[in-house]
Amino acid sequence: MARLEIQQIPVLNDNFIYLAREPKSGAVAVIDPALAAPVLERAAQLGWRITYILNTHHHADHVGGNLEIKAATDCTVVGPGHDPDRIPGMDIQVKDGDSFDLGGARAEVLFVPGHTRGHIAYWFKDSAALFCGDTLFSIGCGRLFEGTPRQMWASLERLRALPAETQIYCAHEYTESNIRFALSVDPGNAALQRRAAEVKSLRAAGRYSVPSLMGDECAANPFLRADAPELAAAVGMKGCDPAEVFAEVRRRKDVF
Ligand code: ZN
Ligand code: FE
Repeated sequence: MARLEIQQIPVLNDNFIYLAREPKSGAVAVIDPALAAPVLERAAQLGWRITYILNTHHHADHVGGNLEIKAATDCTVVGPGHDPDRIPGMDIQVKDGDSFDLGGARAEVLFVPGHTRGHIAYWFKDSAALFCGDTLFSIGCGRLFEGTPRQMWASLERLRALPAETQIYCAHEYTESNIRFALSVDPGNAALQRRAAEVKSLRAAGRYSVPSLMGDECAANPFLRADAPELAAAVGMKGCDPAEVFAEVRRRKDVF
């Protein structure tokens, strides 16, 4: 297996769709296609033949292109077996601990509920690539639409345990607004200040802030730092259960 080639397609206001190709076999996966047309167009430009759709969760801005892409390419749709009824066109259900083979590139499936009750992530260990949908964002995390703070904290704890060099391919460019919030709860964090400066110059140059590195997120993302004493103290919860600190930080973000 060779390292995946990854293409990033910006769509809608702030979504990213990804194309990932295993170069030896030519197998290509689309991850979370909000729409079909921009994906089919990009694949045609590249001469890539789409063989799979990988979905992380059921929201329309992640599965909206499923049926049209499937009809156009006859690809196989892979999605969360934890949520069998809400993924259009799903052929293969995968669950926590399963692996998925993309033409020789192996992805491990991680169950990361919280944003939705069935959310999964795909970790291509050998390519150091994590496709995590709306669970983890750069300097943020997904809203809790269907899960509890405790569930989401457990999901984020699993993700942050991945290697520091893991590239986080999340599904939205929310980083600048996430940083504004993060600085309000963790203003003394030097890693966060560095990330803020970096993202400011990336965005000013018209570039994306995604993917980001797990090592950097662990240091700067307040939602991965609910067990850091400084953060607990900053929200007035010194010594509290990290899941409760997480819940408070998430609550504050919801009303920021
Ligand atoms: Zn979502
Ligand atoms: Fe989304």
